[in-house]
Amino acid sequence: VAARLNSAGFIRSQGFIGGKWTDAYDGKTIEVTNPATGEVITNVSCMGGRETNDAIASAQDAFVSWSKQTAAERSKCLRKWYDLIMAHKEELGQLMTLEQGKPLKEAIGEVSYGASFVEFYAEEAKRIYGDIIPATLPDRRLFVLKQPVGVVGAITPWNFPLAMITRKVAPALACGCTVVIKPSELTPLTALAAAELSIQAGIPPGAVNVVMGNASDIGEALLASPQVRKITFTGSTAVGKKLMAGAASTVKKVSLELGGNAPCIIFDDADLDVALKGTLATKFRNSGQTCVCANRILVQEGIYDKFANAFSNAVSSMKVGDGFGEGVVQGPLINDAAVHKVESFLQDAISKGAKVLIGGKRHSLGMTFFEPTVITDVKSEMLLSREEVFGPIAPLLKFKTEEEAIRMANDTNAGLAAYIFTSSIKRSWRVSEALEYGLVGVNEGLISTEVAPFGGVKQSGLGREGSKYGMDEYLEIKYICLGNM
Ligand code: ADP
Repeated sequence: VAARLNSAGFIRSQGFIGGKWTDAYDGKTIEVTNPATGEVITNVSCMGGRETNDAIASAQDAFVSWSKQTAAERSKCLRKWYDLIMAHKEELGQLMTLEQGKPLKEAIGEVSYGASFVEFYAEEAKRIYGDIIPATLPDRRLFVLKQPVGVVGAITPWNFPLAMITRKVAPALACGCTVVIKPSELTPLTALAAAELSIQAGIPPGAVNVVMGNASDIGEALLASPQVRKITFTGSTAVGKKLMAGAASTVKKVSLELGGNAPCIIFDDADLDVALKGTLATKFRNSGQTCVCANRILVQEGIYDKFANAFSNAVSSMKVGDGFGEGVVQGPLINDAAVHKVESFLQDAISKGAKVLIGGKRHSLGMTFFEPTVITDVKSEMLLSREEVFGPIAPLLKFKTEEEAIRMANDTNAGLAAYIFTSSIKRSWRVSEALEYGLVGVNEGLISTEVAPFGGVKQSGLGREGSKYGMDEYLEIKYICLGNM
């Protein structure tokens, strides 16, 4: 299948260390498969601690010179990287659909979205301003400098094979840091292609390294190294907690984008069309496999039945299939484990009284395809409400009052994204302020952009990505006191 694609030239199977394509020391490889067909796309190097240490050493070498380049020079390289990613939008999108399964249009959309971080941080590179503080003694001058933190370990998931990398790597490079990326073993090809383009863009060898293989060995090597000064991670809450604990031994800076349990609250006074479109968009993007996907749809009792019917109608018209298929909007789930999770959550809900309105089982296409599902009479104690389902299941819960909706929405350890649909300005402010979440979409289901801060509160994470705030994660503040003037 790979040979049919324009992206075939982008398929790399080795790790990328110090600007060189590199095999694992023991020659081991792992398969990368197409989730829509089960076909093996290629075998990539299966690396571990030794290769990671090599990558860290390369990143440390590169840091010495990269951090000393002028902001304008770093900016130019990043801008070129952006241009190259955009020039290869189609090929990168194909590669992503091939290894991840999302519909091609969505994949190409992710390439643009991923590239937008590179463009944005090419610009921010020039704005790392310090401060001069009025001194407390007349013979002193007090300065604040911002300096790159050092080598960064970036660990990323499979659901956004490009954007989760650029959202970390672009601000890191802009600040003068260098990086060791560990992409998900399920989707390393997009990451490797992006690394290749970084070299073409003039980003020096060693500034961007990619290792993949044994996740826990790679993670341990990154955590153990005193040279790695920062760990940035997107993925599950469980692994995030491990990394945070592991980072303690060398006191690294840590940013974490972990799981969500997004409530999507639809009030009686909502514009039904807007609520339908927004909820569909936030629920079914990437077949429900994003940490900001609506996980619980809370609908006020006055509009509940009307919404449930209209929503099921809309869901029933969504075309499921291979991401390369014409008109397909729902691809396969990433693997069997993902399907099992969806099935067990559904089983739990049904056994406790929930009713499937539409879907509810594996799709006739086989593989890991699952029918887009709407399920009603969902209660707060069901698994579907307690944990992130990460699949195309839309659970509808009923509420009576605004207070009840806020209480239900906040009744979770997660705090990433929340959505509300209402026509009342007063209510939109009131509820937005009351929600214990890092992001709130009001009458909008797709809110992520490179110019705004993305990140969670509570156990959904630490730190922010995107926007001017995303730079702080890769900078140290230094205070200089000039005395005896
Ligand atoms: P998901 O459920 O999205 O796959 P994970 O947290 O398992 O979430 O994976 C996110 C990233 O973390 C992947 O790149 C994965 O390989 C990596 N990972 C998993 N376990 C570890 C670990 N013990 N140390 C470091 N990285 C890990």
